[in-house]
Amino acid sequence: MSMNFYILTLFPEMVRNGLNASIIGRAKDAGLLRIDAVNIRDYSENKHQKVDDYPYGGGAGMLMQAQPVYDAWRSVVERIGKKPRCVYVTPQGRTFTQQDAKALAKEEDLILLCGHYEGIDARVLEEIVTDYMSIGDYVLTGGELPAMVMVDAISRMVPGVLGNEESGSSESFEGNLLEYPQYSRPEEWNGRKVPPILLSGHHKNIEQWRRRQSILLTRERRPDLLEKAELTEEERNWLKESE
Ligand code: SAM
Repeated sequence: MSMNFYILTLFPEMVRNGLNASIIGRAKDAGLLRIDAVNIRDYSENKHQKVDDYPYGGGAGMLMQAQPVYDAWRSVVERIGKKPRCVYVTPQGRTFTQQDAKALAKEEDLILLCGHYEGIDARVLEEIVTDYMSIGDYVLTGGELPAMVMVDAISRMVPGVLGNEESGSSESFEGNLLEYPQYSRPEEWNGRKVPPILLSGHHKNIEQWRRRQSILLTRERRPDLLEKAELTEEERNWLKESE
C-alpha cells in the first residue's frame, strides 16, 4: 500500500526539490509514496493571484487569506473523495515526535498545510485543520521546511520505504532510548580504536553492550527521555552502580 501526501504551499518547487533525493526519492519512484505539492496561489480569485492581506486590528506583516487556502484544500478533497487528516504545521502546535511519525504513517492520505508571512486566517484553520503540529520551539519563515521534515520522518515508517539494511527498528526513540554509538572501517582511526567487543563476533554480548551504551548515552544527553524508558530491574541496578 502506498501513502499519499498533499502539501498545500505557496512554494511547491521548494517542496518538490527537497523531497526528490535519496531514500524518499527512491520510494516515490517505486510507487510507495506520492507527494503532491499543491500551489495555493493557483486557487486565488484575485486577478493578480494575491493570497495575502493585512491583519484586522493592525500589527506587523501580512496574513494568508482564507479563500485560496480553503479552495486548495477542497481541490484535494474533491479529487480523492474523502477528507483526510489535515496537519497545519505551526509553531503553535504540539511538538511532532517519532510516535507521531509512526501513527501518521498508517494514514493512506495526509494533507500538510504550510503557512507563510504571519500565518493564516484563523477561520479557514477552524474549518479544515485536524492537527496542529510544530517541529520545535522556534519560528521559521514558512511551513515548507517543517512539512518536508514531517514527510521525511513519516515516510521512513511506511512499510517498504526503508530496506532491511536501513531498518528503523533499533533507532533512537525506540523505547525512549537513543541509539548506541556505531563504528565502521577501519578498526583504528586517528589513534582511536573500535570497541573490541564489536569485533568479538559474540552477538549476545554485543547486544548487551549496545543496550547499555544506549542507556548511558540517553542518560547523558536526554535524561528527560530516560525517565520514560522501560528498563529491567537488572539494568536499573547496573545504572545506579555506574553513576
Ligand atoms: N505569526 C506566527 C506565530 O507567531 O505563531 C508565526 C508565523 S511563521 C513566520 C510562518 C509560517 O511558518 C507558519 O504559519 C508555519 O506554517 C511555519 N512555521 C514557522 N515555524 C514553525 C515551526 N516551528 N513548526 C512548524 N511550522 C512552523
